[in-house]
Amino acid sequence: MSSEQLLGFLRRGKLGEFHNAAKAAVYFGASLFVVLVVLSNSITAVLKTIWCDVGNNWAVGWEYLEQHLSPLQLYFLGSYVIPICLYWLYGSFYLYFDLQENSMLRRYKVQPEKNEPVDREKLWVCIKTVLFNQAVVSLPISFGFYYLYQWRGCSMTLPLPSFKAFLCQMGFCILFEEILFYYSHRILHIPFFYRLIHKKHHQWTAPIGVAAVYCYPAEHIFSNMLPILTGPLIVGAHAAVTFVWIYMAILNTIHVHSGYHVPFLPSPQSHDWHHYRFNENFGVIGLMDYLHGTDTYFKQSDQFYRHRTYFSLDEYSARVQKAEKKTNAVLTKS
Ligand SMILES: [Zn+2]
Ligand SMILES: [Zn+2]
Repeated sequence: MSSEQLLGFLRRGKLGEFHNAAKAAVYFGASLFVVLVVLSNSITAVLKTIWCDVGNNWAVGWEYLEQHLSPLQLYFLGSYVIPICLYWLYGSFYLYFDLQENSMLRRYKVQPEKNEPVDREKLWVCIKTVLFNQAVVSLPISFGFYYLYQWRGCSMTLPLPSFKAFLCQMGFCILFEEILFYYSHRILHIPFFYRLIHKKHHQWTAPIGVAAVYCYPAEHIFSNMLPILTGPLIVGAHAAVTFVWIYMAILNTIHVHSGYHVPFLPSPQSHDWHHYRFNENFGVIGLMDYLHGTDTYFKQSDQFYRHRTYFSLDEYSARVQKAEKKTNAVLTKS
């Protein structure tokens, strides 16, 4: 059989269909591969350019700090003073709206009509507890970690880590926090520990930003601080990576407790649901909840339907209305 006869045979009937489909798949796959390679190369190149520019400025700033501060002072500033300032700055932003009756962020409330305005007595108790956790509980733990990082050989001097090292170390910290926070948080939901420790944090069934570390010292150490500070220790991260990681974690925890699903920002629905329902969404990024199936009811909820980042000011309201209509329709039917 000549090659043309063979091709003719292959193009007929089922084999022909298979041949055409395989050919299309190969063409499509190859084109997709080329597009992805080109895209990933250009994205990496763009990110690297940005990183070099930012990195140069960072290096200049870091050099200045190194010349004027001792390693301990630099660590104290980067891992303790700035995170506390960030906590209160970002927390106060949401608190400003929490204290008003008809604030302009009202339409973005995750749990409408809760904390509108926030109970001032409850808020004052919360602020005192948070200040105590930051001033008394966090301080020795932070300093303990300074010596642990030194022992581990984590660099505090120039050169700053490469773009690749930064991404890898951040990725590790994110995953490690997810695992450690998930299990420590689940342990806190065992009835004995819940009654003894974690119930305090859950007094806010509709949380607010500044209540992110409203809890007993034991919880603050084991469930808030250790999952964040241990990742950089294990991976031997440069202090600059550790600082950025701590800032990201602080901003994230304020945001997911804020009670506001503001457009252009990540969704806080998952942790808000944890405060609302108590028994689901124990993790940070959702990976461990997915693996353990502790997000089943959340995935069937209206809150999950809204659980995404919005890119227009009206999109969120439209989705809320749509979800409400859906719920009302189900209620009318049943
Ligand atoms: Zn909890
Ligand atoms: Zn919480």
